[in-house]
Formats: sequence, structure tokens, C-alpha cells
Amino acid sequence: METLVVDHPLVAHKLTTLRDVRTDSPTFRRLADELVTLLAYEATRDVRVTEVTVESPVSTANGVRLAKPYPLVVPILRAGLGMLDGMTRLLPTAEVGFLGMIRNESTLQAETYATRLPDDLSGRQCYVVDPMLATGGTLAAAVQFLFDRGAVDVTALCLLAAPEGLAHMDKVFANSGKPIRVVTAALDERLNENGYIVPGLGDAGDRLYGVV
Ligand code: URA
Repeated sequence: METLVVDHPLVAHKLTTLRDVRTDSPTFRRLADELVTLLAYEATRDVRVTEVTVESPVSTANGVRLAKPYPLVVPILRAGLGMLDGMTRLLPTAEVGFLGMIRNESTLQAETYATRLPDDLSGRQCYVVDPMLATGGTLAAAVQFLFDRGAVDVTALCLLAAPEGLAHMDKVFANSGKPIRVVTAALDERLNENGYIVPGLGDAGDRLYGVV
């Protein structure tokens, strides 16, 4: 698995305001949206394209267009929805599939409670968006779900990652032979006893949408 921590002053600037406990939900949503667009720029570096020619007002120009099948963007409900618009702004022709995942408190395993995705993902590049890579259980289950449906490669965009989550992903997919990338704005110190990223930014879903 490949991990990319996007090292850019604008990314660090927006992330700092996201972390700040005084940042209200409207500002948090706007900054998360802007930050995703910056992460998406790096995360789509290997997006597949086909060569085309177009007529400019002056001459013929060689260029590229996104290849079909178009990429699939997959927000993990609920917090991943806060990253969806930023992603589709950069990839307007991408299709969007939804995955709802929740942790079963008895087994502590991530379980899927909602899916709205094509059955067949053969040949698809998938971009999972989920703000917090904490234990890695949810992301690992989501990535496995997409590979089971035929995805060729999966890139996860996370605002923050914990070392424990990256280690879990590495372990689960060590022998998968599939291309997996995690693109994040920062690699934080650790998880606390409640599974929160430290220093983190708190509960991403609550900060985006309020406490439910
Ligand atoms: N999920 C969150 O929203 N925040 C964390 O710190 C960890 C998991």
C-alpha cells in the first residue's frame, strides 16, 4: 500500500482551522470541501486517460480525456458526504456510489448497512472518501467490498490518518497484490483509548453536520 501525506502550506493552513475547536460547522464544511479538492489533485495523478485530438482556433492539438469506464467516487456515510462535492468538482464525469458502514459493537467489526453501487466494478478506478482513517477497520472493509466487485485499484482520500489505521490497512492488504493508495492531509500521532485520532479534529461527522 502506498501512503501520500500531501505536504503543502495551503493544506496545512486549512487543516489547522479544521482542527480548531472554535471552528463552526459552516466553516468546517467549506474548509473540508476546499481541502478535498487539494487532496484530489494529488490523488488523481494516476487517473486513466485516453489520447484525443481537438481543433483549437489555431491548429490541431493533442490532448487527453478521462478514460471509460469513468472513475467511481465512493463516500462512506455519513462523514464521507462532506468530501463528496470537493471530489466531484475535480472529477465531474465520475460516477458516485454510496457505502454505509457501521461498527458492530459486539464483534467490533465494520458492517455494511447500505450500498448503492454498480454490481460490476470491473476495470474501475475507485476513490473512497472518508475523513478519518482511525483504526482502519471501516476503510479496510470498504476497500475489500470494492475489490470483491472487481475494482482494479482503490485510492482512499482521508483528511487525517492515524499510524494504527495505516498499519491495519498494510496488514490486511499485504498479500492482495492490488494497488491501494491512501492520500491524506496529515499523519497524526496516535489513537486515544476511545479510538479518536490525537490531536485529530474530533468527530468529523458531528463537526460537519452537528451531533445526532
Ligand atoms: N472518527 C472521527 O470522526 N474522529 C476520530 O478521531 C476518529 C474516528
